[in-house]
Order: sequence, then C-alpha cells, then structure tokens
Amino acid sequence: MAEPVELPNRLGILAFRNKVLLPGAIIRIRCTSPSSVKLVEQELWQREEKGLIGIVPVRDAAESASVGPALYPGGGTDSGERNVKNHSGLPETRKADGKSQQEPVHWHSRGVAARALHLSRGVEKPSGRVTYTVVLEGLCRFSVLELNSRGTYYIAKISPLDITKADMEQAEQDPDFVSLARQFKTTAMELISVLEQKQKTGGRTKVLLETVPVHKLADIFVASFEISFEEQLCMLDSIDLKVRLSKATELVDRHLQSIRVAEKITQKVEGQLSKSQREFLLRQQMRAIKEELGDNDDDEDDIAVLERKMQSAGMPSNIWKHAQRELKRLKKMQPQQPGYNSSRVYLELLADLPWQKATEEQKLDLQAAKERLDSDHYGLVKVKQRIIEYLAVRKLKPDARGPVLCFVGPPGVGKTSLATSIAAALGRKFIRISLGGVKDEADIRGHRRTYIGSMPGRLIDGIKRVGVSNPVMLLDEIDKTGSDVRGDPAAALLEVLDPEQNKTFNDHYLNVPYDLSKVIFVATANKVQPIPPPLLDRMEVIELPGYTPEEKAKIAMQYLIPRVMDQHGLSSEFLQIPEGMVKLIIQRYTREAGVRNLERNLSALARAAAVKVAEQDNTSAVSKDIHQFSSPVEESRLAEGAEVEMEVIPMGVSNQEISNALQVVSPLIVDESMLENVLGPPRYDDRETAERVSNPGVSVGLVWTAFGGEVQFVEATAMAGKGELRLTGQLGDVIKESAQIALTWVRARAMELDLVATGEISLMEGRDIHIHFPAGAVPKDGPSAGVTLVTALVSLLSRKRMRADTAMTGELTLRGLVLPVGGIKDKVLAAHRYGIKRVILPERNIKDLAEVPSAVLSNLEIIYAKRMEDVLEQAFEGGCPWRQRARL
Ligand code: ADP
Repeated sequence: MAEPVELPNRLGILAFRNKVLLPGAIIRIRCTSPSSVKLVEQELWQREEKGLIGIVPVRDAAESASVGPALYPGGGTDSGERNVKNHSGLPETRKADGKSQQEPVHWHSRGVAARALHLSRGVEKPSGRVTYTVVLEGLCRFSVLELNSRGTYYIAKISPLDITKADMEQAEQDPDFVSLARQFKTTAMELISVLEQKQKTGGRTKVLLETVPVHKLADIFVASFEISFEEQLCMLDSIDLKVRLSKATELVDRHLQSIRVAEKITQKVEGQLSKSQREFLLRQQMRAIKEELGDNDDDEDDIAVLERKMQSAGMPSNIWKHAQRELKRLKKMQPQQPGYNSSRVYLELLADLPWQKATEEQKLDLQAAKERLDSDHYGLVKVKQRIIEYLAVRKLKPDARGPVLCFVGPPGVGKTSLATSIAAALGRKFIRISLGGVKDEADIRGHRRTYIGSMPGRLIDGIKRVGVSNPVMLLDEIDKTGSDVRGDPAAALLEVLDPEQNKTFNDHYLNVPYDLSKVIFVATANKVQPIPPPLLDRMEVIELPGYTPEEKAKIAMQYLIPRVMDQHGLSSEFLQIPEGMVKLIIQRYTREAGVRNLERNLSALARAAAVKVAEQDNTSAVSKDIHQFSSPVEESRLAEGAEVEMEVIPMGVSNQEISNALQVVSPLIVDESMLENVLGPPRYDDRETAERVSNPGVSVGLVWTAFGGEVQFVEATAMAGKGELRLTGQLGDVIKESAQIALTWVRARAMELDLVATGEISLMEGRDIHIHFPAGAVPKDGPSAGVTLVTALVSLLSRKRMRADTAMTGELTLRGLVLPVGGIKDKVLAAHRYGIKRVILPERNIKDLAEVPSAVLSNLEIIYAKRMEDVLEQAFEGGCPWRQRARL
C-alpha cells in the first residue's frame, strides 16, 4: 500500500461518469475521447516522474436532483481559462466528447487523486487516432475548490482530505472508533472466509487485514464489490473516520448476506438439478440394461396393459369414469413417487373385479342336485331335504330373496362340504370366507385408501379371487366374529346379507359400490348363541348335531376311505381298512362329534401304507431293470454273479408276466398292531369313566361346547379349613354360582342325607371344600352342571362312589328342583360316544329326545329326574345314601 502522498495544489481532472474511484481501488480505463487522451498525454505520459491526476465523479444532470445552473464551456475547445461556479461551488458542463454533446453534467465536489500503475499508448488504424489504456490506483480524497478548463481538459484547484498521522493517533484513542474498527474487521474477516471458501483463494487477503490501516481497508473493501453510484458517493464523502467505518461495515455486511443468500439458492438449484440429472442417468442405464436383457416391458407398457384390462372389465359407466380419473392421475406420476404403487394396485383391483362376469345359470335339475347331495353325504336326511327345498324355490324364482342358510354344528359334521355341494348343484363357483376371529369392521369392509397398507375387505377380496359376480359364498364361522373398539363386523355383515342393501355394498377401500346381490350366501357356525340377533334374523338355521359312532363308521366306509385312498394314490389292492378297525379308530382315537379327526387318522394310515407301497415299487423297478439285461448270454453271467432277483424269475415267461409277477403285492390289511404303530397308543378307552369315578367325590356330567357335547368330570375334595369353598378350572360366572347353590343345597340337607353325625351343627365346620373341573382348557360355563355338582359333593361327603356307567345334566334350583337344559341331543350323543349306558336328564327335556337317533337311544337307558333326590337315587349304586340310612 502506498505511503501518504504529497498532493499538488492543482490536478488535471478526469471525469468518471456515474462511477467513483475510491482510495486503494485499482481500475483499468481506456481513454479515447480527445479531452481524456489529452489529459493522459500531458499529465501522465509526457511526465518524467510519475504524475498524478484527479478522478472526480460526474453525474448526468437528468439523474441529479439538485441541479444548479449549467455551464457550457464550449465543448472543451476553449483555450482561455474560464471559471464558472454553480451554487455548490462546482460547475455544470456539457460533455465535451462525442455523442452526448448537449447533455448537462453535474460535478461532484470531492474526488480521489490517482496515479498510473501502468500506461500504454495505442494508435487506431486507419484514422490514426491515439488512445491510452491506463491502470489507475486511487490514492487519497481531495476536495475540489475550483474547476477550470484548460484547453480540452479540466484542471482543479484542490485541497487534500487525507488523514494525517496525528489524526489517526487521535482517532485510535476514541473507544467508539476502536469498537467500530473491530466490528468492521470482524465483518471483513467473515467476508474473506466466505469468499475464500467459494474461490479457494489462499490467505492473501487476510494479510491485508493486519497490515493496512483500517480506514484504508474500509475503502478497499467497499471498492471490491459492486454498489450503487449513490452509495459510492456516500462512501467518498465519508471524511469522518467513524462515519466511514460504520458505512463500510454496513456495506460489507450487506454484501456478505447477499453472497450467502445467493449461495443457498445456488445450492438448492444445483441439488435439484443434480438429483434429476442422476435420475435421468439411472433411468437411461436401466433402459439399456432392460434392452440388453430383452426385457422391454417397462412401466409404460404395464400401464397400457392395465388400461386395456380396465376397458375389458365391463365396469358400470359411473365407475368407469372414476377409474379413468384415477388412471389419469397415475399416468402423471413417476413410478418412484409415493402413492404410485397404491394407486396402481387399486386400479388393478378395479380391473380384476368381475363387474359383469358371471357363471351362466344352468337349468336346475333337482333330481341331479339330490343325487349329488346323496353322493357327497351320508345321512343328514332332513338337512338335505331342506337344501332341496331351498334349491326348488330358487328354481321357480331365481331372484328369490329367501333367507340365508346357516349350518350350525360342531366341527367336521359336513357344513362346509354341504355348501360346496349346493354350489355344485347350482353350477356356480364356490368361495369360502373365513370369519373366525374377525374383530375389525375393516376386515369386512376394507380400510380407506388413506391408510398405509390399506386393503379391500374379505368379501371384495373373495369376489376378486373367485372372478365371478355370482358365486356361492360361504361365510364360515359367522359366530366367531366379535366386536371391539375397531367397530362391529356383524353390523357390516348385516348390510351384506340384506338383499335391499347389498346391491350397493360399499367397501371402504374400493370406494365405489359393488353389487353383491347375485351372490348366494351360506353361513356356518358352531353355536347359535353368539350370533347377534339381527344377523340371526336374516338366516335360517339348520342344525347338524354330530354323528353316532355307527354313522361315523358308515361315513368312513362309504365316503372317507375311498376319498383318502384316492388322495394318496392307493386302491384296495394296496390297502384295506376293515370296518372293525374303523370302529376301533372311532372308539379309541376320536371322540368328536364330527368326522374330521377320523378322516385325519384314516389319512395317517393311508400315508403309512403309501410309504410301504412306494418301497415295494422300488424293489420291483430294480427287478425290471435286471430283466431287461437278461439276454441269454448275460443271463448266465448275472446268474453266476448270484443276483437274487434273477433267481426268483421263472424261466421262459414273457416280459409282461414278469413285471406283473413283481407288481402283485398282497394288500396291506390294517390291523390293531398297525393302528398302534401308526396312530400311537389308544387315546381313549371305555375304562376311563370307571377309573375316574373310582374314588368318592367325582361325578360325571354332560356339557355342551363349541365342539358339540362332551362328558365332563367334576371332582370335589374336602380338607381341614374354615368352611370355605374353592373352585378351579376354566370357569365362568354362571358355573361359579351353580357351585354355590349346589353347596347350599347339600348343606341344607346334610342331616337328611346323613352327611353329618348327629350333634354336629354344620357340614362345613372346620373344613374347606375344593371343587375342580378338569377336562383340559375348554372354558366352562352354564347352569347345566348343577346336578353334577351336588352329586360330586354328596359322593365326597358320604364317601360313596358314583356309578361309572351313568352321566347327568340338569340345572338345579335352590329348593332342589331339576330344570331343563339345552343341547340335549349333543349331550346324549356325547354320552353314547363315551360308552356311557345310563343318562339322567331333567324330566322336562323329554321332548328333546325326539331329535336323538333311535340307534343311540336303543343303546342308552334314559332316566328322568324332577328333583335332586331323583338324581341322587339313580346316581349311586344301591340308591341314595340317605335311603340306606332309612333302610337301616
Ligand atoms: P365342517 O365344515 O362342519 O367343519 P366339513 O364340511 O369340512 O366340516 O367336513 C369335514 C369332512 O368330513 C369333509 O371331508 C366332509 O366331506 C366329511 N363329512 C362330513 N359329514 C359327512 C357326511 N355326512 N357324509 C360324508 N362325508 C362327510
């Protein structure tokens, strides 16, 4: 940086139009006008030592708000010295050079002395005009006292405005100045860092900050970036150091901010650009790879396929419009865009749904339907009859809105298979919708598409899968739906089963109505009670109670065994299961109401047989291969080699005969040992009841569960205690109350029943009673265990065993009356299955026995009880305990 310079009193003046040269700034100019060429020539070029000139900003008069009287110095050709001052002491002139001859200009009252760092002279051809290129460095401010034109250019009388050393020292004492200086330097530093980061310049500028006095730095910094002419003037006029510093700080800071904003914007734009460029590049690459692989069906093609599929889906016009809108949206999306996939999956569903497609209705042949039902199902006469009636009505009035058939019964009694038979009889497709455990309404109706991972409900999904709009739809386990906070599936089902409403079934996901009215609904349930009444109201319940062992044996022989054999690729040539063995399986391995486990066990036997047959098959295959080798020459060789197979083939028989001989395998006949080998040791036996009741305190009850009727044992025991009653087993509230009632009844009759010694006040004195309902994890509730509970307690307290061949059921009142209970048919069937011979039932249940197959009844002794005493009389060998006492 230049040392303080001595300024002469007068300086040749170069006018800078709407521009300011600040001290410390370096500028390169080209002088072409006669006045400026003259000025440079005389003041700089021809001087021996380095000359100085003054740079004074001028502003067009039009831009100047405070224009004084204009001065017309005669275009610079004036030779005589003229001196005209305007009101501010400075002249206004008309520009001497060229084009803007008539334009008035306004001279600024301050300028900057400058020296030439570099000068070069040029001669333009062919005019021969001389021009100069000058690199000027601003040195220090001056004030124009007088401006005179000398020949072509101006000379000004000036007074320097440079800061002296003394001024500087004084300023440095001023704390305001010091803090302003510090602030400026900080801002300047920031600017340098930002610029360095951007341009990766070295630390050269930073050195300036330390070596150059701060007032000069202010000028240098401001001169380094573009600011408005007004601001430049303002900077030039800031003679006071503090004013200059604060002005410079403000300008530098503003510049810094503008750089930062610009940087942010650039970054953003660059980021976007590079992202889209990258995507473009990747897509190009993907296309190239696909082409290379010959895999050209990209997304666009997929959408075209989808559109074609939608067109042929036969949607109603309003739905077609809706679908088209969605398709339009999809077409505008990028495959990577969120929502693209869900939109596409949705449209696929719309295209896949059978809007028009339906199985053609065949003319219903009732006789054929009947034969079909008979060929698929043994027994079930009444049920089949009801189905035929149902079909007959449909035949007469195909759009009849009859009730929905609901098959109710334990598992494995043929509910599902009856529904498939209905579908087959009608020649329609069949679809099963499992409703077990459905607690969310959205399972039936779907989730709205706004949810992530939303799906259509099970019904619409089923319709899509089956592909026709008029299938037979089985709503399986309709009693297993429950309601919770997520809504009530039963309410949605109500809409489905209502012929008035299901024409426009609204699935939340689908969001357009779908016509379910052509669907034939059939439902199944294990129990009627859990089905909500409004739903039950829409259905006609057909009960399937379960089979007797005899029926099961027949079903097995006529239906299950042939089917199982077929499924395993076996025939009676390979496996035979005698009826006796089937009965054993029924007795010892299954105690269910239906035939599902029976079928499973038969399958297990078939699998075992299949393994054996396959092994034999292997053996015969080996033999056949050997036979093929047996040309006369080789025969002897093989014989010598002692191939066993060769020895068993009789000589001179034909190929066919040989292979037949090898294939004939005696059929595998299932016997007891095979049963044990394959199915394991028997799971049930007839001695179970006898063993369970071998101790006093156990009674045999009959209960009703989702699996049909069951035999249930109740155990009671007593111990020293405080007269409390404990109950265990999976029990509901009703059964707990039944236990209380039973105990109360027994306590009230303790004397009569001879359960307490004379003199003893209370039955419970000094003892606790514990009652347990074993039988696994089946939850137990209901009042029908009342009589069983009393029997267990009487047996315990009288120390008499209950009869092992007897089971009972009945509700007990506090006064000892036996009230009727439900599920009699299932319970009696269960007793029969367990090999029970005597069943004690409430007297008022007589009518229910009409439903029990006579084959079962003929094997059972049914005893009716009106009062609890009747039950006890029959439950113990030799009658009730108190009778014994009476006899004594
Ligand atoms: P559910 O739906 O009642 O649980 P399924 O209909 O699945 O029972 O029946 C189980 C198996 O038992 C099926 O293979 C079915 O064909 C067979 N089955 C049930 N009842 C009979 C019957 N009366 N005659 C022939 N097979 C039967």
